[in-house]
Amino acid sequence: MKVYSFPRGGLSFEDPTVPPKSSSVVAFLPPLSVIPLIQHSGGRAHPVAGVGDLVKEGMLVGRASGPGSANVHATVPGRIIRMVSWKNSEGFSNDALVIRMEGGFERLGKREEIFPWTSLGTYDIQRIIAEHGVVEMEGSGRPLAEMISVFRNAPEPLSLVVRCVFDDPWLAADYVLCRERLKAVVEGSFIMARAGGRVSCIVFAVSHEERELGEALLAEAGQGEIPAVLVLAGSRYPQRNQRELEMVLRNYGKKEGVELGSLLILGPATLAAVHDAVKLKKPILDRYVAVGGSAVRTPQVMKVRIGTRIREVFAECGGFVDNPKRIALGSPLLGRPVTNLDEPVIKTSYALFAILGGQAGGQTERNCISCGECRGVCPVGLDPEELYKKILVSPDGETGGVPECHGCGCCEVVCPSCLPLSELILGKARRRQNA
Ligand code: SF4
Ligand code: SF4
Repeated sequence: MKVYSFPRGGLSFEDPTVPPKSSSVVAFLPPLSVIPLIQHSGGRAHPVAGVGDLVKEGMLVGRASGPGSANVHATVPGRIIRMVSWKNSEGFSNDALVIRMEGGFERLGKREEIFPWTSLGTYDIQRIIAEHGVVEMEGSGRPLAEMISVFRNAPEPLSLVVRCVFDDPWLAADYVLCRERLKAVVEGSFIMARAGGRVSCIVFAVSHEERELGEALLAEAGQGEIPAVLVLAGSRYPQRNQRELEMVLRNYGKKEGVELGSLLILGPATLAAVHDAVKLKKPILDRYVAVGGSAVRTPQVMKVRIGTRIREVFAECGGFVDNPKRIALGSPLLGRPVTNLDEPVIKTSYALFAILGGQAGGQTERNCISCGECRGVCPVGLDPEELYKKILVSPDGETGGVPECHGCGCCEVVCPSCLPLSELILGKARRRQNA
């Protein structure tokens, strides 16, 4: 079977400190949960419960308000004991409800009730997805109901892409979820195809090393009403990025004479959440998180309740072997630094790492030595060295090329001087977008 890869740049990223991909460990339920009102790409959800209120597991506590906003639910039963606010490392403010766990669980340990969905229409499914606060869990947290609206109105044909491209070892949690919840991922993709309207094809885009997983997904999908295909993708980072994956799928379409048309690309965690929302009427209560890094005693993939504080997650991994130099949510390639260990795991937290000084991202910056390594790996063909220097000299000036940067982080990883290239370039691109 042919393997499709994007044409230039990128890198192979290996990291021995990621957790093993064998199975997940269920994390303890936290006595105190911190439920942020922003766990999505847009504005704060409006709180519909306040200090002193008793809440049930899965109860709505924040209602979506405006574009990019999504419903927020309590993930444990208990009493709201306070509201807290903080600014994250990027300067964005967030508020959260702190719930002290008490009372019985509505769902945990109970037999799940199944709700048939095959007779539901596209708008019913979209409404259920919105009610249950489902967002794109591998990205910035765009509300899925909004993505469905855009997709439904896109030029036909429409194809749904299930992205199982593991180009970064820190996607270990997605991989384990795919293995452990394969049926839910596949059924979630059929539910999404129904929500999207006239979807003519489901594409399983899978890293070529995981061909057997791809074949298992395809076999499971064989029982559905929409044709499904398997496309093997390269595993050079950033193969899973929207731009690079689309490139590969267009190439596949051309070679195989298949017109895929408009693409909606979603990852396995999002599709499993769609399955849970529509088939089980369950909001996102937990998520798979890869916890590791050189500072962590026992790296592992964990199934963590949303709202569990980061310090508790690390404690369950045996704590730190030494003082970490850097702690971040996400992958070392794209992670957002964590400055407060009381920040919680949210819907989009797929990885959490703590590293010592010697690991990538933990070293000290030096001057640029003009080695050109950053140019060689940029998949977009930019000159990160030049952009970096221009932005340093004139942070608010016009810098051509910046808008094309999609923040993959390749340039930063290979830079021997440990310069924060993508952080600065992408930061500038975002400032321009928001201006
Ligand atoms: S990789 Fe780093 S040191 Fe080398 S040219 Fe680029 S910015 Fe300079
Ligand atoms: S300049 Fe942007 S797109 Fe190019 S390697 Fe760096 S982060 Fe990636």
